[in-house]
Amino acid sequence: MAATSTRIGVAGLAVMGKNMALNIAEKGFPVSVYNRTASKVDDTVQRAKAEGNLPVYGFHDPKSFINSIQKPRVVLILVKAGAPVDDTINTLLPFMETGDCIIDGGNEWYETTERRQKAMAELGLLYLGMGVSGGEEGARNGPSLMPGGSIDAYKNIEDILLKVAAQVSDSGPCVTYVGEGGSGHFVKMVHNAVEYGDMQLITEASDVLKSAGKLSNQEIHEVFSEWNRGELRSYLIEITAHIFGVKDDKGKGYLVDKVLDKTSLKDNGRWFVQQAAELSVSAPTIAASLDARYLCGLKGERVEAAKVYQSAEFGEEVNKEKLINDVKQALYASKICNYAQGMNLIPAKSVEKGWSLKPREIARIWKAGCVVQGVFLERVRKAYDTNPDLVNLLVDPEFAKEMMQRQSALRRVVCVAINCGVSTPGMSASLAYFDSYRRERVATSLVQAQLDYFGAHTYERIDTEGSFHTDWIKIV
Ligand code: NAP
Repeated sequence: MAATSTRIGVAGLAVMGKNMALNIAEKGFPVSVYNRTASKVDDTVQRAKAEGNLPVYGFHDPKSFINSIQKPRVVLILVKAGAPVDDTINTLLPFMETGDCIIDGGNEWYETTERRQKAMAELGLLYLGMGVSGGEEGARNGPSLMPGGSIDAYKNIEDILLKVAAQVSDSGPCVTYVGEGGSGHFVKMVHNAVEYGDMQLITEASDVLKSAGKLSNQEIHEVFSEWNRGELRSYLIEITAHIFGVKDDKGKGYLVDKVLDKTSLKDNGRWFVQQAAELSVSAPTIAASLDARYLCGLKGERVEAAKVYQSAEFGEEVNKEKLINDVKQALYASKICNYAQGMNLIPAKSVEKGWSLKPREIARIWKAGCVVQGVFLERVRKAYDTNPDLVNLLVDPEFAKEMMQRQSALRRVVCVAINCGVSTPGMSASLAYFDSYRRERVATSLVQAQLDYFGAHTYERIDTEGSFHTDWIKIV
């Protein structure tokens, strides 16, 4: 391979980097690859050979890696977020020149991305923070890409991104220039938070079917397979159907029953909830999904608590067929609430940062390639297409109609779960969100009255303009 002849470099060749490099090469763009541990370089080059001699060129030292890329150079970094990104930049930087471009494709905190953008700009380098979603399969065959930062950097590689992203026949490649600064990584954080919500809601649906409805794993497998043919069709429903059908290869029964009930935690869910709190955006479904992960992590405590409460018995006679249909409706209604909350953080942040983010475009690029992909995203896109300034998905006429049709089922499912002692924090939070949002007058007028009572915080009246304080004790 002659020097300075590849189109792009990929640094970091774990699951994401290796597969992205193969994807880019397969689309006809020669790729240079580099990794701190050299064996991953050799492995990636081997894979490229095995997959039809794809144009992937491996380098064990950073200098020859950088020198092999055509100018202005573009390097896509895919390593663990945080210090490893700084380490990788510092390793490559001595060999890069003014006008070159760095893209961080990891799950980075958006403010860290902005710090690096500023530092690179001072050195004359362009910088993009790009959310990449879809895991191994997406990276290899077409991810959803959320690049934000330097528009010039984006223009340099737009042709590559348009080809490697997931392709949707009616709405194009799943990539768009998201916006300035750290907006690409911010939007990826929102994506992952919505993913938290979706996964939690699906898990609750399966728990209600199993614990209250007494469905077997095989029956749940069939129910989810059926759901995946309709309005719930999505990657997460598809893999859930599959998971419930997999037998344990190390023992009897189904594998899903042998998986320890502890969930790993990544930063994105926590960051989202912190951002929602800072921007006063209500997001109880996503917060409940995060809480559920904290609580499930207390395995030892739960084992002890189960001994204390083992005599507590709950239950309710349920009609299996009716329950299956209700859970389907409840899952869909909760999903609307989950997306309403996730999408609402986008305009709130956009206004704060002056980013001009477009919810319609974001929904469009999530339609395929990423973990939350599914037919639902087309509905979200349509809602923002109809009204780009939509304040909440719940007031989109189409979604409102669907909520009206499904709210009774959601109430029934939450009631069944409560009566059976099955926790459904995501569905319950979704219902509470809906019930708070749809009511013209909510009970928090009392909170304001209490605040004025003990702290003279004043209140507004519904019948007269102005700010009022009452000496509540004297009035009685
Ligand atoms: P990862 O497991 O997050 O990280 C492993 C990679 O980081 C290896 O290439 C490793 O190099 C490198 N690395 C770690 N510390 C380093 C350091 N101090 N200096 C230089 N390199 C260092 O890899 P991944 O799963 O492919 O993910 C890459 C990024 O994409 C992460 O930000 C991740 O959150 C994000 N992401 C992952 C997925 C997924 O499904 N895996 C999906 C979307 C986004 P060595 O081989 O030398 O150890």
